Amino acid sequence: MSHIQDEIRSITDGLPQGVRLVAVSKFHPESSIEEAYAAGQRIFGESHVQELREKQEHLPKDIEWHFIGHLQTNKVKYIAPYISLIHAVDSIKLLEEIDRQAQKAGRVIPCLLQLHVALEETKFGFSPDECRETAASGEWRKLKHVQICGLMCMASNTDDMEQVRAEFRQAYDLYKELKAGPFADVPYFKERSWGMSHDYPIALEEGSTLVRIGSKIFGERTY
Ligand SMILES: *Cc1c(COP(=O)(O)O)cnc(C)c1O
Repeated sequence: MSHIQDEIRSITDGLPQGVRLVAVSKFHPESSIEEAYAAGQRIFGESHVQELREKQEHLPKDIEWHFIGHLQTNKVKYIAPYISLIHAVDSIKLLEEIDRQAQKAGRVIPCLLQLHVALEETKFGFSPDECRETAASGEWRKLKHVQICGLMCMASNTDDMEQVRAEFRQAYDLYKELKAGPFADVPYFKERSWGMSHDYPIALEEGSTLVRIGSKIFGERTY
């Protein structure tokens, strides 16, 4: 069995029930995705629109593609016809554009709100308070072609695992607050996308339902 298939099996065997693996295949060749596919993996995460478009065209049509990176509004139209989940929605403007393009494609597109909990300044996302305000405003209820299915976050890039845990916990606490508040009547608001190669075991302890794992499966990326 190949390294890729070994890793897919050992990761998925260790996931609690109801938690799904997003195999992050950005910058990795189609042949690597095919290997993971042969091991039964069906959910793949990409973060560049052009790269995703090419892979989606060539690879099996029962793959569920997740967009995990920062998405520019002018590129939504290219992925709207098939994308299964957009993880990193960080503005109402982007959500509105996804709604518009989903309507054109005759679809309803599931999305997650990206929460900024990490120490780094450069990462995208809503602060906890912006996220609360956006949820409470109810503007999203007017958008009939998107579904806000939960929250996504990235922890700080640090070896301090207590810091990482505190950030995931902050995201999980906010999720629970929104689930009890503005999203109380929204049954599909149930996903928590956190955890990457180096921190997903902690993410699982802090309520993750979607782990996004790249290098542990496919090896280091070559940029
Ligand atoms: C690249 C990426 C991942 C995967 O990171 P690894 O450390 O390779 O597991 C997860 N989430 C996002 C948003 C990414 O951009």
